[in-house]
Amino acid sequence: MAKLIDGKAIAAQIRDEVAQETQALKSCGVTPGLAVVLVGEDPASCTYVRNKQKACADAGIYAEQITLPATTTQEELLRVVQELNARADIHGILCQLPLPAHLDDKAVIAAISPEKDVDAFHAVNVGHILIGDEGFQPCTPAGVMEMLTRSGIAVEGKSCVVIGRSNIVGKPMAMLLLHANGTVTICHSRTVDLAAVCRGADILVAAIGKAKFVTADMVKPGAVVIDVGINRDENGKLCGDVDFAAVEPIAGAITPVPGGVGPMTIAMLLKNTLTAAHRQTGK
Ligand code: NAD
Repeated sequence: MAKLIDGKAIAAQIRDEVAQETQALKSCGVTPGLAVVLVGEDPASCTYVRNKQKACADAGIYAEQITLPATTTQEELLRVVQELNARADIHGILCQLPLPAHLDDKAVIAAISPEKDVDAFHAVNVGHILIGDEGFQPCTPAGVMEMLTRSGIAVEGKSCVVIGRSNIVGKPMAMLLLHANGTVTICHSRTVDLAAVCRGADILVAAIGKAKFVTADMVKPGAVVIDVGINRDENGKLCGDVDFAAVEPIAGAITPVPGGVGPMTIAMLLKNTLTAAHRQTGK
């Protein structure tokens, strides 16, 4: 039976640490501020934004939600971003994705000041990630790395397989594992014999977006299995990319969904907001 990696508990630890550090920064006269821009009323996005706001409030971080109608034009959205870039009380800005189809998410991300880009999606921050600089860490992959570290799982020398090559999860995940001296393979929808590649993994990270895609035959006995996916199963129940019931008896360690990577992403967002406030104020 696998060791369960409890993302909820590890995230709570990080949130406590952030709350303490926020308190210390406040005593120097600085309240970290995060602006969350939401365009439209996508129900999942609304839930994510609500959770981020609550987490900020719990940690003592000021959070401002800017809700714009789904009909917002590109120019209007860019103007909002520019206004937030110019505000001294806002240290972090994020625009909840996906945006309505008529808006260009790349242009919006490019408009966010790299110093305030707490999601680490801006090309400047992606560049920092690639060369291993101390920029912002992308929240979800950074959350996975924290989970591994705080669970005592070493990456160095391990065979790491990441399924998924998105800019948000798969690619930066692979980079962070590489910087931790893992031997990294990135798989995607055109990978030939995916199951065989996955079976070679000591650490397998699934970031696909397909319910219960990773089955027992894809996992090496004793492997660490990290499930980034957030999906609904055939009964509408929240589930990951990994068939948990089938894989758990084989794996050495595994993250559940919910209660795994999800809470870590929010904890890392708080951490990045705090970092942004430190950097911008020099306090
Ligand atoms: P995406 O759709 O941008 O990318 C999915 C990747 O999976 C693609 O690179 C694609 O090549 C790969 N893929 C698709 N079908 C495949 C197949 N049959 N075989 C192999 N690879 C295949 O998605 P994303 O934004 O990277 O998100 C992935 C999942 O992670 C989603 O379920 C998303 O909801 C979840 N997610 C969770 C968090 C969190 O906080 N836990 C954060 C971001 C994303």
